[in-house]
Amino acid sequence: MVDMVMPLDPAANETLVEQEAAAIERIKKIRPILGDDVVILGHHYQRDEVIQFADFQGDSFQLSREGAKTKAKTIVFAGVHFMAESAVVLGREDQAVILPNMQAGCSMADMANLQQVLTAWAELEDVLMDDPSNHVMPITYMNSAADLKAFVGERGGAVCTSSNARGVLEWAFAQREKVFFFPDQHLGRNTGKKMGIPLEQMVLWNPLKPYGGLTDDEIRNAKVILWRGHCSVHQQFRPEHVDTWRKHHPDVNILVHPECMMQVVDKADYVGSTSYIIKTVEAAPPGSKWAIGTEMHMVNRLKQQQTDKMVELLSPFACLCSTMYRISPLDLANVLENLADGRVINQIFVPEDIQRNAKLALDRMLAIPK
Ligand code: SF4
Repeated sequence: MVDMVMPLDPAANETLVEQEAAAIERIKKIRPILGDDVVILGHHYQRDEVIQFADFQGDSFQLSREGAKTKAKTIVFAGVHFMAESAVVLGREDQAVILPNMQAGCSMADMANLQQVLTAWAELEDVLMDDPSNHVMPITYMNSAADLKAFVGERGGAVCTSSNARGVLEWAFAQREKVFFFPDQHLGRNTGKKMGIPLEQMVLWNPLKPYGGLTDDEIRNAKVILWRGHCSVHQQFRPEHVDTWRKHHPDVNILVHPECMMQVVDKADYVGSTSYIIKTVEAAPPGSKWAIGTEMHMVNRLKQQQTDKMVELLSPFACLCSTMYRISPLDLANVLENLADGRVINQIFVPEDIQRNAKLALDRMLAIPK
């Protein structure tokens, strides 16, 4: 009997680097064929090999709006899952939204799910002995699943971004005594602190414990109830990193994202969203020094572009968004080639009722003066 000899797969011996290089060439070939029917959106934290193909680069909310304004029938979102969902909510009915790799989630968004938030709301009702909507304004950060945005929308609340969080909280307090803020405790706490809310009135809700691990009095006396969630990337920046920079470079400017912990934000010179960080460094004088606390791909890109300034990551360790990194040139080539063959793969769907209520929460945010 003769053993069957399987034909060799030429790709089997290729390294990942070679496969990605080949994928980049495949994208270059296929992209012009798709033309304006497809728009590629790239989040600031996306790696260079992918972002080079983005028609628009920005933060999640800005990108969703840009995508909706184009005449493209298909939006390919090089970002993470909640961003693609937001593009569905804000997009047109005739647009399909594709996430090149369905494993690209957001660890922060995953820290709050609808069931946990519904349980928390029921527990708040129990403690307050009233419908929480009479007292508590639910606010969700843009970095949350569409069903949480819908939860908020149904209860009179709004979404916020890292650039408008203060305005949204002020709007919330003009109507109700308390704010229930999820999923990022740091953005909520940093914003509340800037507004002068005492730390003891900003309590932390642990979704893994009954009643968030809080006493009835703690809940009744709280102004802000912060969900126990965080960004695994921004959490890595520590106050010691700021101290080290200041020791070795007394003239350095510390510029951080508000998803960083309060102890880092308190020591920083400037705090703001990704767009704010980019604009601030671009407008800075030549020779100035910047240590930046946000995702490293964005910082490295700024460093390459702003060669007349010193631009470095605040942390000595690589702080990258590993979930966003899951989108590779191979994934992008795959979805684009399928599109060219008339197949829409990795499409993100959001049920209609969730879209409607999530849109309510987003529209409320947009109506709040900045
Ligand atoms: S950087 Fe943080 S918040 Fe942003 S997508 Fe990654 S895990 Fe989520």
